Amino acid sequence: MGEDLLVHRNDVILVEEDTSPSQATLPGMEPWRILIVDDDDEVHKATRFALKGANIDDRQIQLLHAYSATEGEAILRNQPDIACVLLDVVMDTPDAGLGLVARIRGPMGNRLVRIILRTGQPGQAPELEVVQRYDVNDYKHKAELSNICLLTTLTASCRSYEQLKAIEAHRRGLSMIVEATRNLMQETGLQRLAAGVLTQICSLLDVPTEGAVCLGQSGVAGQPLKVLAAAGRFDSVGGRAVEDIPETAMREFLRTRFAERTDHSRQGTADLYAKLPSGDEVLVHVEHARPLSDLERRLLEVFSANITVALRNADLFEQVQDLAFRDRLTRLPNRLSFDQEIVRRIAAGQQFMVAVADMDHFHTVNSGLGHSFGDKILIEAGRVLARAARNMDGYVARLYSDAFGLVLPAADEAAGEAALAKIHTALHGPLKISGHKIYSSVSLGGALYPRDGDTEQLLFRRADMALRNAKTEGRGGSAFYAKGMGELQRERLAMVSQLNEAFAAGQLRLYFQPQVRLDSGRYIGGEALLRWPTNDGGFISPTEFIAAAEDSGLIHDIGDWVLEETCRWLRRWSDSCRGGPRLAFNISPVQFRHPGFAERLVKRISGAGVDPSLLELEITESTLFHDSDLIATQLRDFRSIGMRVAVDDFGTGYSSLSRLKMLPIDTLKIDRSFVVDMTESPENHSIAEAVVRIGHLLGKEVVAEGVETVAQAECLRAIGCEFGQGFLFSPAVPPEKFAEMLE
Ligand code: C2E
Ligand code: MG
Ligand code: MG
Repeated sequence: MGEDLLVHRNDVILVEEDTSPSQATLPGMEPWRILIVDDDDEVHKATRFALKGANIDDRQIQLLHAYSATEGEAILRNQPDIACVLLDVVMDTPDAGLGLVARIRGPMGNRLVRIILRTGQPGQAPELEVVQRYDVNDYKHKAELSNICLLTTLTASCRSYEQLKAIEAHRRGLSMIVEATRNLMQETGLQRLAAGVLTQICSLLDVPTEGAVCLGQSGVAGQPLKVLAAAGRFDSVGGRAVEDIPETAMREFLRTRFAERTDHSRQGTADLYAKLPSGDEVLVHVEHARPLSDLERRLLEVFSANITVALRNADLFEQVQDLAFRDRLTRLPNRLSFDQEIVRRIAAGQQFMVAVADMDHFHTVNSGLGHSFGDKILIEAGRVLARAARNMDGYVARLYSDAFGLVLPAADEAAGEAALAKIHTALHGPLKISGHKIYSSVSLGGALYPRDGDTEQLLFRRADMALRNAKTEGRGGSAFYAKGMGELQRERLAMVSQLNEAFAAGQLRLYFQPQVRLDSGRYIGGEALLRWPTNDGGFISPTEFIAAAEDSGLIHDIGDWVLEETCRWLRRWSDSCRGGPRLAFNISPVQFRHPGFAERLVKRISGAGVDPSLLELEITESTLFHDSDLIATQLRDFRSIGMRVAVDDFGTGYSSLSRLKMLPIDTLKIDRSFVVDMTESPENHSIAEAVVRIGHLLGKEVVAEGVETVAQAECLRAIGCEFGQGFLFSPAVPPEKFAEMLE
């Protein structure tokens, strides 16, 4: 038996844990903790002697000692997991022991600890009523102390303590399961349910959420195994088809586990398997790092049965919805009905257009404002579209996420275009959602029947292709199907996935192009420009890949990185160069329209340890004059921390001077096209001059872009332009080189 140590501190006797390695704290192998409460030291000694070297069910015994009811109570309150109390009835008062019993079961609420009363005189038994009411296990005469009977009694008590504890844990576990299942049952989509199951299991086991939920179908070719939900080390594969997972080990791992098609609990992992009414199969794989107790394993079994029910419900629910041909969220017809409508119109011999409408930048709204807000936008947009279509004797369905399908009467492309224009107009006014005005727009792609296809699938595919094309033109565009569109799209898709990889692999670089004072030739700072290096030592121009990044939403992450890098370099150069250089960085309109963009940017810059007045944010002129109210507020936010704002490509947008004057802008960057032309003809010269003048009239600094020749620089200086940027001075160069130039 591990020696029990007594430490007197105030009145309470604490027993220190024996920390020797031989008493390793394997779960379930902790010693039994038994508390002796008795005012007679002899009793303590005798008990210790009687139990020396004793084991109960292969577990050692650890004694805790208290010499009064008060001490005993303190120990019970402070020490966890005491299995049994050997309690003297008569101490400082004749019923001190019984009083403690009442407190243990009453105020302390400890229903688990087993209590053995010990009486001084033979025949002095406590009343039966006490024994029953307080769940006292036994009473023994003190003379029986040295007797083997003590060990027998303790053994019985410890065992029943252990049982009670298990029941209690089980009860708690069950109520957690009930709670978890109740939460899950409310989920009606498989995907959300899957994510919920992962979270619930891990919180049930009290381990960090780590695992994956896979959905597949046995024996169905072309039905890929898909990761419905994922967390922890699986995070990156969430939403993917398993066959597309790049890491072989993980791919094979999930495949193998799925192929087993059974529940499993082994070292550090648990797998739950369910087959759904649709024939789909679900595997929930959870990793828990520590071994599970028997109890936890049993709980998992119960939970597994419960989630199977929840999964089946969700699956059935989805099927019923499909059967009803209606989209659950918007209550519009769904894809299935859409196809049928096309078939119906073909059969009726009508001429019509199939159009696909995709909400611009919906994913950014959705992730920025939350899914429930995103849902409201979809519902409202669906309503507006439906009304517009109805007025044209047309038809609207929700196809998937933020895409709607339209069928509109149109005999030719001109009629189709007119119809699409009406759709754009309908969505032009802001959507009113929970008291907010949301400016939305859609991109539209159209295909004509019979010109572009004669089946519902072909018409849809081609309209969708046209849509992707329209999207490349920026938001709010529309396009009709034309031959050869497929090619363009494949290229673009390839670009997106390559860019994704390059960015993830940290291959993008930030270069800096100096800006100079035209009168003195001094460097004042520079503009950060993205570079995507290619294997042959060149690079892909941002003009080629920014659009792809915007399309795919990757621009947000890339933009964050650009800002981070810019701040990092600015910090470095501010240290070495007095005052620090001024650094400009570009912001895509897509970033700008992301709700909360300004707020986040301001927060990041404030925390970046740089002087914000050395940062200049560049936005293109055309951005400024869309969503103008939103823009003005955001610009003021930037200003509030002292950051500068520049209008890029000035002269190419459609700004009204009165607005320009009102907006908080520091710098106008005259577009290259004016600079190129200015030395060619007196007419162009006077245009450039006018642009510079306007800038000064509005009280802004003016930077000329694309200065390539000495003649241009001279000319610009003559018309009063203070700053220039262009190949004449330097192209964009790597940061190290830029730093040298600054010096
Ligand atoms: P921008 O902001 O107007 O940048 C100026 C572009 O003009 C740069 O092209 C620069 O290399 C080029 N340039 C500078 N001097 C001369 C010159 O003397 N002659 C000629 N012909 N060109 C000159 P770059 O680096 O290819 O960038 C193109 C555009 O890509 C940028 O136009 C900007 O709109 C966008 N971009 C670049 N970096 C970023 C970024 O980090 N984020 C975002 N959102 N857009 C970026
Ligand atoms: Mg720029
Ligand atoms: Mg520019």
